[in-house]
Amino acid sequence: MDYTLTMNTLDKKIEAFPRIGKKYGDILRRLDIETLRDFLLHFPFRYEDYSERTHIDNVSAGTSVTLMGEITQSKLIRTWKKKMLITECYVSDETGTIRAVWFNQPYISDSLTIGKGVRLSGKISEDKNGFFLSNPSWELSSRTPTNTGRLVPIYPETEGLSSKWIRWQMQSLIRYVDEFKDPLPERILKELNFPSIAEAIKNIHFPKSQEQAEISQKRFVFQEIFIMQLVSLNIKIDWDNQKAANIPFPENLIKEFVLQLPFKLTDAQRKSAFQIFKDLEKPRPMNRLLNGDVGSGKTMVAALATLSAANAGYQTAIMAPTEVLARQHYESISKLFTHQKINVGLLTNAYQESSLAKISGSDEKISKSKKRESILNKIKNGEINLIIGTHALIQKDIFFKNLALVIIDEQHRFGVSQRAYLQQKSSEINDGLKDKIPHFLAMTATPIPRTLALAFFGNLDISVLDEMPKNRKPIKTEIVTSRNREKMYDFIRQEIASGRQAFIIFPLVEESAVLTEVKAATEEHRRLSEKVFSQLKLALLHGKMKAAEKEEVMADFKNKKYDILVATSVVEVGIDVPNATVIIIEDADRFGLSQLHQFRGRVGRGEFQSYCFLLTEKSTEKTKSRLRALVNSSSGFVIAEEDLKLRGPGEFLGTRQSGLPDITMQHITDVKLIETAHEYAEQLINEDSKLIMHPLLKEELSRFTKFAHLE
Ligand code: ADP
Ligand code: MG
Repeated sequence: MDYTLTMNTLDKKIEAFPRIGKKYGDILRRLDIETLRDFLLHFPFRYEDYSERTHIDNVSAGTSVTLMGEITQSKLIRTWKKKMLITECYVSDETGTIRAVWFNQPYISDSLTIGKGVRLSGKISEDKNGFFLSNPSWELSSRTPTNTGRLVPIYPETEGLSSKWIRWQMQSLIRYVDEFKDPLPERILKELNFPSIAEAIKNIHFPKSQEQAEISQKRFVFQEIFIMQLVSLNIKIDWDNQKAANIPFPENLIKEFVLQLPFKLTDAQRKSAFQIFKDLEKPRPMNRLLNGDVGSGKTMVAALATLSAANAGYQTAIMAPTEVLARQHYESISKLFTHQKINVGLLTNAYQESSLAKISGSDEKISKSKKRESILNKIKNGEINLIIGTHALIQKDIFFKNLALVIIDEQHRFGVSQRAYLQQKSSEINDGLKDKIPHFLAMTATPIPRTLALAFFGNLDISVLDEMPKNRKPIKTEIVTSRNREKMYDFIRQEIASGRQAFIIFPLVEESAVLTEVKAATEEHRRLSEKVFSQLKLALLHGKMKAAEKEEVMADFKNKKYDILVATSVVEVGIDVPNATVIIIEDADRFGLSQLHQFRGRVGRGEFQSYCFLLTEKSTEKTKSRLRALVNSSSGFVIAEEDLKLRGPGEFLGTRQSGLPDITMQHITDVKLIETAHEYAEQLINEDSKLIMHPLLKEELSRFTKFAHLE
């Protein structure tokens, strides 16, 4: 029996296809392309419009054109200065002649011989000899247009793999496109005027017009959002059908607690806390997002919820994205609860503890693991009311007595799938509350604009903290170029002389850049310590340090052992040092506004006037006007909207964080599309909640969720 026949062709390894093989298979894998399906779903991110033919006497410098003509001269030249091979051709049509050159592609001259008809697409350049084309795309006129003479798709490339190669392969492999079965119900396609899946894929790779490409892409975006909404709704339904501990609102306790705080709650905090108390009173699990700015006081709201749960005798878990933050939550919340009958416990990562222990000797190792064991016991017998840790808190070996509330401080601003995963896990928690799952509260690290909240959190109830505590002085923000660097350093010296501290941030651009960023920060730390601030004490913090080392540096900085902390972006996620009043962000232009706002939030957390200096060497008006948004506004919501407008959602969110394809990200601000997807998803779930009538859709859903679990 031929098993290949029973296997879907689309699932076949791409390297098994002719002319691809292992060599290209390996390269394609770098683009996450494993199968034929992946390959056909590898979409261009833009198109060059070479659909209109231009006559040679009509060209002008700087324009993109497609020309057709006959080769009248062709030669291979070797430049002896640079040892470069140049193919030079002259092409003529009935209106004139033009030169075309290709660098270091000598094989081209074998194909482009005198008398051949060609199509050339590219940009017109001009030198002292007149107009010419440099490295244009070319095809013999006898071929069907693939690279020229049409809307030419431009693909995300990788080393050793050009767009041209991808187009060439696509041309032949597209014949399998009909193997795609459409997960979208026909009725929806018809009502929304969307092409079928096969047609859409074809049109995306080989569009006859821009419009055709767009509607086809939109179809995929819709499909993606639709599936995401279905996943959300499914979680919501599952969630709504579950039971949770109902926690009565302890009005007097909360009032007393709030009265003894050194400040008044903001209206937004009160409103959000009240929404949470209402949710907790229900026998169904809460599923809520606390959407708030840096410094808006989310921790306080979390503490109020915790207090309410503890009052009813239930446990709460708070999870932070990093150990440093978990420890910080532990410290600030423990302090808040000094006069409450609440036992707070901190559970840190066992692995890191033991690797630390290895350094400091085996006795410590034993005491560390004993300590962990003792905490685990107290979680199990209920002695600990509030347990704080990282996401690793939800693990098989941890038993709770009665965990009724899970609070997650989110690192990934939009980790839909990550949250879905944590939510799923927390519903499987080991505890004594039989048949009940915990109430769930997610807190964002940065404010989320309305449209995005709609797309990503369709299944969540949302509370917004859009108001800052009254006592906050807005941070004075300034854009600084190197000319004023010395002045800025002087200013820091003054602040430090009056007892304050400063951050200097060398932000990390992308993960692969970790090492170079670490190097930059390390070198800069040395330069600053030796040359600029030789009288001051400087600390260094970067992502390659061990968790324990990082914590030590942070703690020392907090305890004023250092004046200045030089750091990479590890500092981003929420370190609280009220005595720090200055933050310098180097190369500020390389970052999104929301991220910069996040950095800026590291200062202004105490009573002192704080300052943020955005360094940039770029003096273009565009850069400046972008950064000016930060100078002009202190609202994270305003800045996030601006960021979204300027960079588009793909950049804003970071595709990896969202887990969605680029083209979806490009359209995710399309409110109409999101609303439509949401409505259709609701309708479908009402009719066929288990998707029994829609098996293909069900498959797509499990693909989406499986992906989520892998994260
Ligand atoms: P975030 O929303 O960034 O997590 P935090 O909860 O860490 O903010 O709060 C930042 C600081 O503001 C903390 O030091 C906290 O004690 C303080 N704070 C919280 N609520 C108020 C308030 N209503 N008035 C004044 N200060 C507040
Ligand atoms: Mg916080």
